Amino acid sequence: MNGRKSCLLAIDQGTTSTRAILFDGQARPLRSHAVPLRQIYPANGWVEHDPGEIWQAALTCCRTVLGGRDAGDVAAIGITNQRETSLLWDKTSGKPLHNAIVWQDRRGAARCAALKKRGLEPQISRKTGLLLDPYFSATKLEWLLKNVKGARKRNIAFGTIDSWLIWNLTRGKVHATDVTNASRTMLWNLKTRDWDAGLLKLFSVPRAILPRVAESRGDFGACDPMLLGAAIPILGVAGDQQAASFGQACFAPGDVKSTYGTGCFALVNTGKAVPRSRNRLLATALAQKQYAIEGSIFIAGAVVQWLRDELGVIASAPESQALAKSAKPAEGLYFVPAFTGLGAPYWDPGARGAILGLTRDVGRAEIVRAGLDAVCYQTRDLLEAMRRDMSAARLTRLRALKVDGGMVANDWFCQRLADLTGLSVDRPKVTETTALGAAYLAGLGAGLFKDQKDIAARWALDRRFKPALAKAERDRLYAGWKNAVSRVQ
Ligand code: ADP
Repeated sequence: MNGRKSCLLAIDQGTTSTRAILFDGQARPLRSHAVPLRQIYPANGWVEHDPGEIWQAALTCCRTVLGGRDAGDVAAIGITNQRETSLLWDKTSGKPLHNAIVWQDRRGAARCAALKKRGLEPQISRKTGLLLDPYFSATKLEWLLKNVKGARKRNIAFGTIDSWLIWNLTRGKVHATDVTNASRTMLWNLKTRDWDAGLLKLFSVPRAILPRVAESRGDFGACDPMLLGAAIPILGVAGDQQAASFGQACFAPGDVKSTYGTGCFALVNTGKAVPRSRNRLLATALAQKQYAIEGSIFIAGAVVQWLRDELGVIASAPESQALAKSAKPAEGLYFVPAFTGLGAPYWDPGARGAILGLTRDVGRAEIVRAGLDAVCYQTRDLLEAMRRDMSAARLTRLRALKVDGGMVANDWFCQRLADLTGLSVDRPKVTETTALGAAYLAGLGAGLFKDQKDIAARWALDRRFKPALAKAERDRLYAGWKNAVSRVQ
Protein backbone atom coordinates (compact mmCIF):
# COMPACT_ATOMS: atom_id res chain seq x y z
CA MET A 1 0.00 0.00 0.00
CA ASN A 2 2.97 2.36 -0.73
CA GLY A 3 3.54 2.59 3.00
CA ARG A 4 0.38 4.72 3.29
CA LYS A 5 -1.58 4.31 6.50
CA SER A 6 -4.75 3.03 4.96
CA CYS A 7 -6.75 1.17 7.63
CA LEU A 8 -8.86 2.10 10.64
CA LEU A 9 -9.29 0.02 13.76
CA ALA A 10 -12.60 0.33 15.62
CA ILE A 11 -13.12 -1.08 19.12
CA ASP A 12 -16.80 -1.63 19.96
CA GLN A 13 -17.13 -2.45 23.65
CA GLY A 14 -20.76 -3.49 24.20
CA THR A 15 -22.78 -4.81 27.13
CA THR A 16 -22.64 -8.45 26.10
CA SER A 17 -19.49 -8.54 23.97
CA THR A 18 -16.29 -6.74 23.04
CA ARG A 19 -15.43 -6.46 19.34
CA ALA A 20 -12.79 -5.03 17.06
CA ILE A 21 -13.37 -4.33 13.39
CA LEU A 22 -10.64 -3.45 10.93
CA PHE A 23 -11.88 -1.13 8.15
CA ASP A 24 -10.11 -0.20 4.93
CA GLY A 25 -9.58 3.42 3.91
CA GLN A 26 -13.06 3.50 2.33
CA ALA A 27 -14.63 2.41 5.64
CA ARG A 28 -15.40 -1.07 4.31
CA PRO A 29 -15.11 -3.77 6.99
CA LEU A 30 -12.18 -6.14 6.37
CA ARG A 31 -12.03 -8.32 9.47
CA SER A 32 -13.78 -8.52 12.79
CA HIS A 33 -13.46 -10.48 16.00
CA ALA A 34 -15.71 -10.63 19.07
CA VAL A 35 -15.33 -11.99 22.60
CA PRO A 36 -18.43 -12.46 24.81
CA LEU A 37 -18.51 -10.60 28.12
CA ARG A 38 -19.42 -12.25 31.42
CA GLN A 39 -22.38 -10.68 33.26
CA ILE A 40 -22.01 -10.61 37.03
CA TYR A 41 -25.17 -10.37 39.18
CA PRO A 42 -24.09 -9.90 42.82
CA ALA A 43 -27.60 -9.04 44.08
CA ASN A 44 -31.11 -8.49 42.80
CA GLY A 45 -31.04 -5.59 40.33
CA TRP A 46 -27.24 -5.30 40.43
CA VAL A 47 -25.14 -5.88 37.29
CA GLU A 48 -21.33 -5.74 37.12
CA HIS A 49 -18.52 -6.33 34.61
CA ASP A 50 -14.90 -7.26 35.29
CA PRO A 51 -12.79 -4.35 33.94
CA GLY A 52 -9.70 -6.56 33.56
CA GLU A 53 -11.71 -8.97 31.40
CA ILE A 54 -12.93 -6.06 29.24
CA TRP A 55 -9.41 -4.76 28.65
CA GLN A 56 -7.98 -8.22 27.87
CA ALA A 57 -10.85 -8.90 25.46
CA ALA A 58 -10.29 -5.59 23.67
CA LEU A 59 -6.60 -6.35 23.31
CA THR A 60 -7.26 -9.88 22.04
CA CYS A 61 -9.81 -8.58 19.49
CA CYS A 62 -7.41 -5.90 18.20
CA ARG A 63 -4.53 -8.35 17.91
CA THR A 64 -6.74 -10.90 16.15
CA VAL A 65 -8.04 -8.53 13.47
CA LEU A 66 -4.52 -7.17 12.92
CA GLY A 67 -3.14 -10.73 12.75
CA GLY A 68 -0.22 -10.81 10.31
CA ARG A 69 -0.77 -7.24 9.14
CA ASP A 70 1.71 -4.44 9.74
CA ALA A 71 0.19 -2.31 12.53
CA GLY A 72 1.95 0.61 10.84
CA ASP A 73 -0.81 0.42 8.18
CA VAL A 74 -3.41 1.52 10.73
CA ALA A 75 -3.99 5.27 10.56
CA ALA A 76 -6.04 5.56 13.74
CA ILE A 77 -8.09 3.82 16.42
CA GLY A 78 -11.74 4.70 17.11
CA ILE A 79 -13.52 3.61 20.29
CA THR A 80 -17.24 3.19 20.90
CA ASN A 81 -18.68 1.75 24.09
CA GLN A 82 -21.63 0.88 26.30
CA ARG A 83 -22.50 4.14 28.00
CA GLU A 84 -22.86 5.07 31.70
CA THR A 85 -21.05 1.93 32.98
CA SER A 86 -18.62 3.22 35.60
CA LEU A 87 -15.45 2.22 37.42
CA LEU A 88 -12.61 3.43 39.62
CA TRP A 89 -8.99 2.39 39.31
CA ASP A 90 -5.74 3.08 41.15
CA LYS A 91 -3.57 5.39 39.05
CA THR A 92 -0.37 4.03 40.55
CA SER A 93 -0.99 0.33 40.03
CA GLY A 94 -3.48 0.65 37.15
CA LYS A 95 -5.70 -1.89 38.96
CA PRO A 96 -9.50 -1.45 39.26
CA LEU A 97 -10.76 -0.90 42.81
CA HIS A 98 -13.98 -2.82 42.19
CA ASN A 99 -15.96 -4.33 39.32
CA ALA A 100 -17.50 -1.84 36.90
CA ILE A 101 -21.14 -1.00 37.71
CA VAL A 102 -23.14 -1.55 34.53
CA TRP A 103 -25.74 0.90 33.16
CA GLN A 104 -28.58 -1.56 33.88
CA ASP A 105 -27.66 -1.70 37.59
CA ARG A 106 -30.40 -0.31 39.85
CA ARG A 107 -28.46 0.03 43.14
CA GLY A 108 -28.78 3.82 43.07
CA ALA A 109 -32.61 3.69 42.97
CA ALA A 110 -33.20 4.68 46.60
CA ARG A 111 -30.69 7.51 46.36
CA CYS A 112 -32.37 8.83 43.20
CA ALA A 113 -35.79 8.62 44.85
CA ALA A 114 -34.47 10.60 47.83
CA LEU A 115 -33.02 13.31 45.57
CA LYS A 116 -36.29 13.48 43.66
CA LYS A 117 -38.15 13.93 46.93
CA ARG A 118 -35.92 16.89 47.70
CA GLY A 119 -37.17 18.40 44.42
CA LEU A 120 -33.78 18.27 42.70
CA GLU A 121 -34.81 16.63 39.43
CA PRO A 122 -35.71 19.81 37.45
CA GLN A 123 -32.37 21.42 38.31
CA ILE A 124 -30.37 18.28 37.44
CA SER A 125 -32.33 17.91 34.19
CA ARG A 126 -31.72 21.50 33.18
CA LYS A 127 -27.98 21.05 33.63
CA THR A 128 -27.46 17.55 32.25
CA GLY A 129 -30.45 16.85 30.00
CA LEU A 130 -31.03 13.62 31.96
CA LEU A 131 -33.72 12.35 34.32
CA LEU A 132 -32.85 11.45 37.89
CA ASP A 133 -32.28 7.73 37.42
CA PRO A 134 -29.72 5.15 38.66
CA TYR A 135 -29.05 4.33 34.99
CA PHE A 136 -26.57 7.25 34.80
CA SER A 137 -23.05 7.27 36.29
CA ALA A 138 -23.36 9.76 39.17
CA THR A 139 -24.99 7.49 41.76
CA LYS A 140 -22.81 4.55 40.66
CA LEU A 141 -19.67 6.62 41.31
CA GLU A 142 -21.09 7.85 44.59
CA TRP A 143 -21.71 4.24 45.63
CA LEU A 144 -18.14 3.22 44.72
CA LEU A 145 -16.59 6.13 46.63
CA LYS A 146 -18.68 5.27 49.68
CA ASN A 147 -18.39 1.50 49.65
CA VAL A 148 -14.86 0.74 48.48
CA LYS A 149 -12.74 0.91 51.62
CA GLY A 150 -10.10 3.63 51.58
CA ALA A 151 -11.00 4.71 48.02
CA ARG A 152 -10.82 8.40 48.87
CA LYS A 153 -7.36 8.07 50.38
CA ARG A 154 -5.82 6.63 47.24
CA ASN A 155 -4.60 8.14 44.00
CA ILE A 156 -7.62 7.11 41.94
CA ALA A 157 -9.23 7.73 38.58
CA PHE A 158 -12.89 7.53 37.59
CA GLY A 159 -13.92 6.53 34.13
CA THR A 160 -16.59 5.17 31.86
CA ILE A 161 -15.47 2.24 29.69
CA ASP A 162 -13.95 4.48 26.98
CA SER A 163 -11.66 6.10 29.59
CA TRP A 164 -10.63 2.70 30.91
CA LEU A 165 -9.68 1.50 27.41
CA ILE A 166 -7.80 4.74 26.63
CA TRP A 167 -5.91 4.50 29.92
CA ASN A 168 -4.85 0.94 29.17
CA LEU A 169 -4.06 1.50 25.50
CA THR A 170 -1.80 4.44 26.44
CA ARG A 171 -0.41 2.56 29.47
CA GLY A 172 -1.58 5.21 31.89
CA LYS A 173 -0.44 8.23 29.89
CA VAL A 174 -3.92 9.55 29.10
CA HIS A 175 -6.95 9.90 31.37
CA ALA A 176 -9.66 11.25 29.08
CA THR A 177 -13.22 10.79 27.87
CA ASP A 178 -15.29 12.38 25.11
CA VAL A 179 -18.31 14.68 25.30
CA THR A 180 -20.88 11.99 24.43
CA ASN A 181 -19.78 9.72 27.27
CA ALA A 182 -19.42 12.67 29.67
CA SER A 183 -22.98 13.70 28.87
CA ARG A 184 -24.29 10.40 30.32
CA THR A 185 -22.60 10.74 33.72
CA MET A 186 -25.11 13.23 35.22
CA LEU A 187 -22.06 15.27 36.29
CA TRP A 188 -21.43 17.13 33.02
CA ASN A 189 -23.19 20.35 32.10
CA LEU A 190 -24.50 20.43 28.51
CA LYS A 191 -24.35 24.23 28.33
CA THR A 192 -20.90 24.92 29.83
CA ARG A 193 -19.60 21.65 28.34
CA ASP A 194 -17.66 21.06 31.55
CA TRP A 195 -17.99 19.08 34.79
CA ASP A 196 -20.57 20.90 36.91
CA ALA A 197 -19.26 22.14 40.28
CA GLY A 198 -22.72 21.98 41.91
CA LEU A 199 -23.30 18.37 40.84
CA LEU A 200 -19.80 17.31 41.91
CA LYS A 201 -20.63 18.73 45.34
CA LEU A 202 -24.04 17.05 45.46
CA PHE A 203 -22.53 13.63 44.71
CA SER A 204 -19.28 14.28 46.72
CA VAL A 205 -17.05 13.72 43.70
CA PRO A 206 -13.53 15.23 43.82
CA ARG A 207 -12.81 16.90 40.48
CA ALA A 208 -9.26 15.51 40.46
CA ILE A 209 -10.46 11.96 39.82
CA LEU A 210 -12.42 12.88 36.67
CA PRO A 211 -11.05 12.48 33.14
CA ARG A 212 -10.29 15.36 30.81
CA VAL A 213 -13.19 15.78 28.38
CA ALA A 214 -12.31 16.07 24.68
CA GLU A 215 -14.44 16.39 21.55
CA SER A 216 -15.32 12.98 20.08
CA ARG A 217 -13.13 13.67 17.12
CA GLY A 218 -10.10 14.54 19.21
CA ASP A 219 -6.64 13.55 20.37
CA PHE A 220 -6.72 10.77 22.98
CA GLY A 221 -3.00 9.94 22.78
CA ALA A 222 -1.47 6.94 21.05
CA CYS A 223 -1.44 3.30 22.03
CA ASP A 224 1.77 1.96 23.50
CA PRO A 225 3.78 0.41 20.61
CA MET A 226 4.42 -2.72 22.68
CA LEU A 227 0.71 -3.57 22.65
CA LEU A 228 -0.16 -3.72 18.95
CA GLY A 229 3.20 -3.24 17.24
CA ALA A 230 2.95 0.49 16.51
CA ALA A 231 2.02 3.73 18.29
CA ILE A 232 -1.39 4.10 16.64
CA PRO A 233 -3.13 7.37 17.55
CA ILE A 234 -6.60 7.22 19.15
CA LEU A 235 -8.52 9.91 17.27
CA GLY A 236 -12.21 9.11 17.75
CA VAL A 237 -14.34 8.22 20.78
CA ALA A 238 -18.14 8.15 21.18
CA GLY A 239 -20.78 6.34 23.21
CA ASP A 240 -22.56 3.60 21.25
CA GLN A 241 -25.79 5.44 20.34
CA GLN A 242 -24.01 8.64 19.36
CA ALA A 243 -21.53 6.59 17.31
CA ALA A 244 -24.47 4.92 15.54
CA SER A 245 -26.01 8.32 14.85
CA PHE A 246 -22.68 9.44 13.35
CA GLY A 247 -22.38 6.21 11.34
CA GLN A 248 -25.88 6.93 9.98
CA ALA A 249 -24.70 10.42 8.97
CA CYS A 250 -27.43 12.14 11.02
CA PHE A 251 -25.75 15.52 10.67
CA ALA A 252 -28.70 17.86 9.97
CA PRO A 253 -31.32 18.94 12.52
CA GLY A 254 -34.32 16.62 12.10
CA ASP A 255 -32.19 13.63 11.05
CA VAL A 256 -33.28 10.69 13.18
CA LYS A 257 -31.93 7.17 13.62
CA SER A 258 -33.42 4.26 15.47
CA THR A 259 -31.44 1.15 16.44
CA TYR A 260 -33.43 -2.08 16.91
CA GLY A 261 -31.44 -4.56 18.99
CA THR A 262 -32.65 -6.09 22.24
CA GLY A 263 -34.05 -2.66 23.07
CA CYS A 264 -34.42 0.33 20.80
CA PHE A 265 -32.69 3.71 20.97
CA ALA A 266 -33.86 6.62 18.85
CA LEU A 267 -31.89 9.87 18.57
CA VAL A 268 -32.95 12.97 16.68
CA ASN A 269 -30.40 15.65 15.84
CA THR A 270 -31.65 18.98 17.21
CA GLY A 271 -28.73 21.16 16.08
CA LYS A 272 -26.29 23.38 17.92
CA ALA A 273 -28.46 24.72 20.74
CA VAL A 274 -28.99 22.62 23.88
CA PRO A 275 -32.50 21.15 23.61
CA ARG A 276 -34.89 20.54 26.48
CA SER A 277 -37.40 17.75 26.50
CA ARG A 278 -40.76 18.49 28.07
CA ASN A 279 -41.93 14.98 27.35
CA ARG A 280 -39.55 13.01 29.55
CA LEU A 281 -37.06 12.18 26.81
CA LEU A 282 -33.35 12.92 27.32
CA ALA A 283 -31.13 15.66 25.91
CA THR A 284 -27.64 14.50 25.07
CA ALA A 285 -24.42 15.58 23.31
CA LEU A 286 -23.71 14.29 19.81
CA ALA A 287 -20.24 13.54 18.47
CA GLN A 288 -20.16 16.61 16.21
CA LYS A 289 -20.76 19.66 18.45
CA GLN A 290 -24.51 19.27 18.11
CA TYR A 291 -27.15 17.89 20.45
CA ALA A 292 -29.87 15.28 20.27
CA ILE A 293 -33.07 14.28 21.97
CA GLU A 294 -33.03 10.59 22.81
CA GLY A 295 -35.77 8.13 23.62
CA SER A 296 -35.50 4.45 24.38
CA ILE A 297 -37.74 1.40 24.30
CA PHE A 298 -36.76 -1.36 26.75
CA ILE A 299 -38.25 -4.23 24.75
CA ALA A 300 -37.76 -4.31 20.97
CA GLY A 301 -35.97 -7.43 19.61
CA ALA A 302 -36.52 -8.84 23.11
CA VAL A 303 -40.19 -9.35 22.21
CA VAL A 304 -39.05 -11.64 19.37
CA GLN A 305 -36.73 -13.47 21.79
CA TRP A 306 -39.68 -13.93 24.17
CA LEU A 307 -41.92 -15.30 21.39
CA ARG A 308 -39.14 -17.76 20.57
CA ASP A 309 -37.78 -18.74 24.00
CA GLU A 310 -40.71 -18.41 26.40
CA LEU A 311 -43.84 -18.80 24.27
CA GLY A 312 -42.11 -21.10 21.75
CA VAL A 313 -44.28 -20.00 18.82
CA ILE A 314 -41.30 -19.42 16.51
CA ALA A 315 -38.12 -21.46 16.16
CA SER A 316 -35.94 -18.54 15.12
CA ALA A 317 -36.13 -14.73 14.99
CA PRO A 318 -36.23 -14.57 11.15
CA GLU A 319 -39.27 -16.90 11.16
CA SER A 320 -41.29 -13.99 12.60
CA GLN A 321 -41.33 -12.39 9.14
CA ALA A 322 -43.20 -15.13 7.25
CA LEU A 323 -45.60 -15.68 10.14
CA ALA A 324 -46.48 -11.99 10.51
CA LYS A 325 -47.08 -11.81 6.78
CA SER A 326 -49.50 -14.76 6.92
CA ALA A 327 -51.49 -13.39 9.88
CA LYS A 328 -55.25 -12.73 9.63
CA PRO A 329 -56.31 -9.10 10.28
CA ALA A 330 -57.28 -9.84 13.93
CA GLU A 331 -58.86 -6.43 14.46
CA GLY A 332 -58.32 -5.01 17.93
CA LEU A 333 -55.46 -7.37 18.90
CA TYR A 334 -52.67 -5.57 20.79
CA PHE A 335 -49.59 -6.87 22.56
CA VAL A 336 -48.12 -4.50 25.16
CA PRO A 337 -44.67 -5.92 26.02
CA ALA A 338 -44.23 -4.05 29.29
CA PHE A 339 -42.16 -6.91 30.76
CA THR A 340 -40.06 -4.53 32.86
CA GLY A 341 -42.43 -1.58 33.01
CA LEU A 342 -42.97 1.12 30.42
CA GLY A 343 -40.18 3.48 29.31
CA ALA A 344 -40.44 6.79 27.48
CA PRO A 345 -42.78 8.59 27.36
CA TYR A 346 -44.86 6.73 30.02
CA TRP A 347 -42.14 5.96 32.62
CA ASP A 348 -44.23 3.50 34.57
CA PRO A 349 -41.93 0.95 36.25
CA GLY A 350 -44.93 -0.85 37.78
CA ALA A 351 -46.69 -1.66 34.48
CA ARG A 352 -46.58 -5.27 33.23
CA GLY A 353 -47.23 -6.83 29.82
CA ALA A 354 -50.56 -7.94 28.35
CA ILE A 355 -52.11 -9.28 25.17
CA LEU A 356 -55.53 -7.68 24.65
CA GLY A 357 -58.34 -8.34 22.21
CA LEU A 358 -57.96 -12.13 21.96
CA THR A 359 -60.68 -13.91 19.96
CA ARG A 360 -61.20 -17.57 19.06
CA ASP A 361 -59.46 -17.23 15.69
CA VAL A 362 -56.24 -15.66 17.04
CA GLY A 363 -53.32 -18.05 16.61
CA ARG A 364 -49.56 -17.84 16.79
CA ALA A 365 -49.21 -15.87 13.54
CA GLU A 366 -51.48 -13.11 14.84
CA ILE A 367 -49.65 -12.98 18.18
CA VAL A 368 -46.26 -12.75 16.45
CA ARG A 369 -47.57 -9.94 14.29
CA ALA A 370 -48.95 -8.13 17.33
CA GLY A 371 -45.47 -8.42 18.91
CA LEU A 372 -43.78 -6.80 15.91
CA ASP A 373 -46.56 -4.18 15.75
CA ALA A 374 -45.82 -3.28 19.37
CA VAL A 375 -42.26 -2.26 18.45
CA CYS A 376 -43.70 -0.03 15.70
CA TYR A 377 -46.29 1.59 18.01
CA GLN A 378 -43.66 2.22 20.66
CA THR A 379 -41.50 3.88 18.03
CA ARG A 380 -44.44 6.12 17.16
CA ASP A 381 -44.78 6.96 20.88
CA LEU A 382 -41.16 8.16 20.85
CA LEU A 383 -41.54 10.05 17.56
CA GLU A 384 -44.67 11.81 18.85
CA ALA A 385 -42.80 12.94 21.97
CA MET A 386 -39.85 14.06 19.82
CA ARG A 387 -42.18 16.00 17.53
CA ARG A 388 -43.75 17.79 20.49
CA ASP A 389 -40.30 18.70 21.87
CA MET A 390 -39.13 19.89 18.48
CA SER A 391 -42.12 22.04 17.67
CA ALA A 392 -41.92 23.61 21.15
CA ALA A 393 -38.37 24.62 20.23
CA ARG A 394 -39.50 25.61 16.69
CA LEU A 395 -37.18 23.05 15.17
CA THR A 396 -37.29 21.36 11.82
CA ARG A 397 -39.66 18.48 11.13
CA LEU A 398 -38.53 14.90 11.37
CA ARG A 399 -37.07 13.44 8.21
CA ALA A 400 -37.08 9.77 7.20
CA LEU A 401 -36.27 7.28 9.94
CA LYS A 402 -32.81 5.75 9.44
CA VAL A 403 -32.83 2.27 10.98
CA ASP A 404 -30.22 -0.31 11.99
CA GLY A 405 -29.74 -3.20 14.44
CA GLY A 406 -30.57 -6.93 14.22
CA MET A 407 -34.35 -6.52 13.77
CA VAL A 408 -34.15 -4.50 10.56
CA ALA A 409 -33.15 -7.61 8.62
CA ASN A 410 -36.91 -8.24 8.77
CA ASP A 411 -38.47 -6.57 5.68
CA TRP A 412 -42.02 -7.02 6.96
CA PHE A 413 -41.11 -5.19 10.17
CA CYS A 414 -39.49 -2.31 8.24
CA GLN A 415 -42.56 -1.88 6.01
CA ARG A 416 -44.92 -2.05 9.00
CA LEU A 417 -42.75 0.54 10.80
CA ALA A 418 -43.23 2.90 7.84
CA ASP A 419 -46.98 2.19 7.74
CA LEU A 420 -47.57 2.71 11.46
CA THR A 421 -45.30 5.77 11.94
CA GLY A 422 -46.07 7.48 8.64
CA LEU A 423 -42.35 8.12 8.05
CA SER A 424 -40.22 6.61 5.31
CA VAL A 425 -37.94 3.97 6.81
CA ASP A 426 -34.44 3.99 5.32
CA ARG A 427 -32.26 0.90 5.77
CA PRO A 428 -28.60 1.49 4.89
CA LYS A 429 -26.32 -1.06 3.22
CA VAL A 430 -24.05 -1.19 6.27
CA THR A 431 -26.13 -1.77 9.39
CA GLU A 432 -23.05 -2.09 11.68
CA THR A 433 -23.38 1.63 12.27
CA THR A 434 -21.87 1.79 15.77
CA ALA A 435 -18.39 0.56 14.84
CA LEU A 436 -18.66 2.43 11.55
CA GLY A 437 -19.32 5.70 13.42
CA ALA A 438 -16.19 5.17 15.55
CA ALA A 439 -14.16 4.41 12.41
CA TYR A 440 -15.50 7.56 10.71
CA LEU A 441 -14.52 9.73 13.70
CA ALA A 442 -11.02 8.24 13.77
CA GLY A 443 -10.70 8.49 9.96
CA LEU A 444 -11.66 12.17 10.01
CA GLY A 445 -8.95 12.82 12.58
CA ALA A 446 -6.41 10.92 10.49
CA GLY A 447 -7.35 12.77 7.31
CA LEU A 448 -8.68 9.67 5.51
CA PHE A 449 -12.01 11.47 5.06
CA LYS A 450 -12.25 15.11 4.21
CA ASP A 451 -15.22 16.25 6.23
CA GLN A 452 -18.75 15.29 7.30
CA LYS A 453 -20.01 15.88 3.76
CA ASP A 454 -17.57 13.26 2.56
CA ILE A 455 -19.00 10.86 5.17
CA ALA A 456 -22.62 11.70 4.35
CA ALA A 457 -21.84 10.90 0.70
CA ARG A 458 -20.71 7.41 1.72
CA TRP A 459 -24.05 6.62 3.39
CA ALA A 460 -25.65 4.17 0.97
CA LEU A 461 -29.31 3.16 0.95
CA ASP A 462 -30.11 -0.53 0.83
CA ARG A 463 -33.88 -0.05 0.71
CA ARG A 464 -36.47 2.64 1.43
CA PHE A 465 -39.80 1.48 2.88
CA LYS A 466 -42.52 4.04 2.14
CA PRO A 467 -45.69 4.36 4.24
CA ALA A 468 -48.54 2.69 2.36
CA LEU A 469 -51.31 3.00 4.94
CA ALA A 470 -53.82 5.88 4.81
CA LYS A 471 -53.39 8.40 7.62
CA ALA A 472 -56.88 7.81 9.00
CA GLU A 473 -56.24 4.07 9.27
CA ARG A 474 -52.81 4.63 10.85
CA ASP A 475 -54.30 6.97 13.45
CA ARG A 476 -57.18 4.62 14.17
CA LEU A 477 -54.81 1.73 14.85
CA TYR A 478 -52.60 3.97 17.01
CA ALA A 479 -55.59 5.08 19.08
CA GLY A 480 -56.20 1.36 19.77
CA TRP A 481 -52.60 1.03 20.96
CA LYS A 482 -52.93 4.01 23.32
CA ASN A 483 -56.05 2.43 24.74
CA ALA A 484 -54.24 -0.92 25.22
CA VAL A 485 -51.37 0.84 27.02
CA SER A 486 -53.78 2.60 29.34
CA ARG A 487 -55.14 -0.81 30.39
CA VAL A 488 -51.78 -1.99 31.77
CA GLN A 489 -50.90 1.18 33.68
P1 ADP B 1 -28.05 -6.51 20.54
O1 ADP B 1 -26.92 -5.68 20.01
O2 ADP B 1 -28.97 -5.76 21.47
O3 ADP B 1 -27.64 -7.83 21.09
P2 ADP B 1 -28.73 -7.02 17.73
O4 ADP B 1 -28.61 -5.72 17.05
O5 ADP B 1 -27.71 -8.07 17.48
O6 ADP B 1 -28.99 -6.82 19.29
O7 ADP B 1 -30.19 -7.60 17.35
C1 ADP B 1 -30.63 -8.80 17.88
C2 ADP B 1 -32.13 -8.71 18.13
O8 ADP B 1 -32.82 -8.64 16.88
C3 ADP B 1 -32.64 -9.91 18.86
O9 ADP B 1 -33.47 -9.47 19.92
C4 ADP B 1 -33.46 -10.69 17.83
O10 ADP B 1 -34.61 -11.24 18.44
C5 ADP B 1 -33.84 -9.63 16.82
N1 ADP B 1 -33.88 -10.16 15.45
C6 ADP B 1 -32.86 -10.67 14.74
N2 ADP B 1 -33.26 -11.04 13.50
C7 ADP B 1 -34.57 -10.74 13.42
C8 ADP B 1 -35.58 -10.89 12.40
N3 ADP B 1 -35.28 -11.38 11.20
N4 ADP B 1 -36.83 -10.48 12.70
C9 ADP B 1 -37.14 -9.95 13.91
N5 ADP B 1 -36.23 -9.79 14.89
C10 ADP B 1 -34.98 -10.18 14.66
